[in-house]
Amino acid sequence: MGILWSRYVYVNRYKAKANPLYTKLHDFVKHKDYFVLTTNVDHQFQLAGFDKSRLFYMQGDYGLLQCSVPCHNKTYDNEELILKMVREQKDYRVPTQLIPKCPVCGRNMEMNLRADDRFVQDDGWYQHAELYQEFLEKTKGQKLLLIEIGIGFNTPAIIRYPFEKMTYLSKDTHLVRINKDYPIYPQELVGKAISFDEDIDIILDEIIK
Ligand SMILES: [Zn+2]
Repeated sequence: MGILWSRYVYVNRYKAKANPLYTKLHDFVKHKDYFVLTTNVDHQFQLAGFDKSRLFYMQGDYGLLQCSVPCHNKTYDNEELILKMVREQKDYRVPTQLIPKCPVCGRNMEMNLRADDRFVQDDGWYQHAELYQEFLEKTKGQKLLLIEIGIGFNTPAIIRYPFEKMTYLSKDTHLVRINKDYPIYPQELVGKAISFDEDIDIILDEIIK
């Protein structure tokens, strides 16, 4: 993890302000029983005021480091380190002693992002996976609206396909798919799904109305 990463994380994780789109989404759900399942790795949901216990960041977090091996199943908050790296960089270089090393094996640390099978799922990850499962259990037999935003075919097995299956299997579940490039949904979901390929901002305004 070097200069580019530290700048990137700084800009996207620590310097970022709430994107108005997320604030709008929060205004829409805040008085409802909701849960957010996301492949985002920034903190836009938290910045917009979403309740942390209603979020599951399944693909990692710019704010966390892990061992690159990984030799143990733990993640480490990187805020202090990133701020220091950004502060002390010179001529596009970060002082060597600031390059993070694993406190257990001494090898390099890297971002806790799911890029391959070395992704560390720590206690926090499992805790939020559990919260999501509890939410699904709790809402069984109740009306459930799945709003899927911007999920294409990069990792469809994580959100897109499961949402289709849940909509198909429960009479109380409906799906709103917002996707510029891939708005289509399976024939079996006709009458239970609706999709939009317009701008997310415009669609959210309409749904909120
Ligand atoms: Zn290690």
